[in-house]
Amino acid sequence: METQIKKLGEKNISAAKEILIRGGVVAIPTETVYGLGAVGTIPLAVKEIFKVKGRPSDNPLIAHVHKDYDLNKLVYIEHDYVYRLLERFTPGPLTLVFNSKRVVCDEATCGGQTLAVRIPSHEGCQQLLKAVDMPIVAPSANLSKHTSPVTAQHVYNDLNGKIPLILDGGKCVGGIESTVLDVTERTPRILRAGLITKEMIESVCGSCDVALHKEGDKVKSPGVKYKHYRPKCETMLFESGDIDGVINAYNEELNKGGVPFIMCDSVYEKEFSGKNLLLLGNTPEQIASNLYDKLLDGEKKASLIIAIAMPDEKGVNMGIMNRLRKSCG
Ligand code: AMP
Ligand code: MG
Repeated sequence: METQIKKLGEKNISAAKEILIRGGVVAIPTETVYGLGAVGTIPLAVKEIFKVKGRPSDNPLIAHVHKDYDLNKLVYIEHDYVYRLLERFTPGPLTLVFNSKRVVCDEATCGGQTLAVRIPSHEGCQQLLKAVDMPIVAPSANLSKHTSPVTAQHVYNDLNGKIPLILDGGKCVGGIESTVLDVTERTPRILRAGLITKEMIESVCGSCDVALHKEGDKVKSPGVKYKHYRPKCETMLFESGDIDGVINAYNEELNKGGVPFIMCDSVYEKEFSGKNLLLLGNTPEQIASNLYDKLLDGEKKASLIIAIAMPDEKGVNMGIMNRLRKSCG
């Protein structure tokens, strides 16, 4: 199959819609990462997503809808705080997990009682969702376990020959996947950290739990148990501030004849001057936005990426650390 990359515009939205309503899959941009979409009510189309990605069959998909879509068609909204969350953070990088009305097929929810729903803010994505006017289920548009794509070219590099169309809507600004929040209980609970932080949710709901996964726990958000986001080269992750550790690892890799790259924020730039660097930027938002782009750039030229942990897990750093541990830990 020939995979085409086409600019996201009116004409190509029609082409994508055609493919989708006939049960095909299309890669689409969102404000977080690129997604591999299919209509959530067509079981064969949803199965194709799992096949293309090599995704484990017990890891459910997020349903994406446009901002005027009536969520009551898909799920039960059981708590008042949900309306405040919707008002404050959507459209945007927040996924809410509800009890499902099972309109979206069991293939997408992996037979579970719940459905995860998101309203993306990416304008082109909104236009596509509006045109289709059905829930589009979409995981990240990468091969399973690999780093998530934030450009159309990243998607092409993983899925060339496996899907007909990639809509190019530019580089994703968010850079890490949405916050996944369970809203089936009286207190909302973060299942996956992201750009909508615990602190932001608390400011709207009063309180917010974070699901902790201990060895042997039944996992409520299956995706968090898998190996994830890994670049194709070797990786290491050092504690924040462990400059000696980083330099030792760097020199050791050089002595072995390898090509080490240090991935760090601008605070460390001076410490490592003259060395191969993958610079992530200044603020947590910039770091999140650049993380996958730098990992995917790094895997092309490095034999080893040496990453450094964030100084804490407050705010957006919680989401960054979650991705860093899995990609580089
Ligand atoms: P991905 O689209 O690959 O970024 O992964 C979607 C994430 O949402 C994974 O961590 C899934 O486990 C999670 N997810 C999707 N549907 C549900 C659900 N019904 N309940 C809990 N977590 C979900
Ligand atoms: Mg993914």
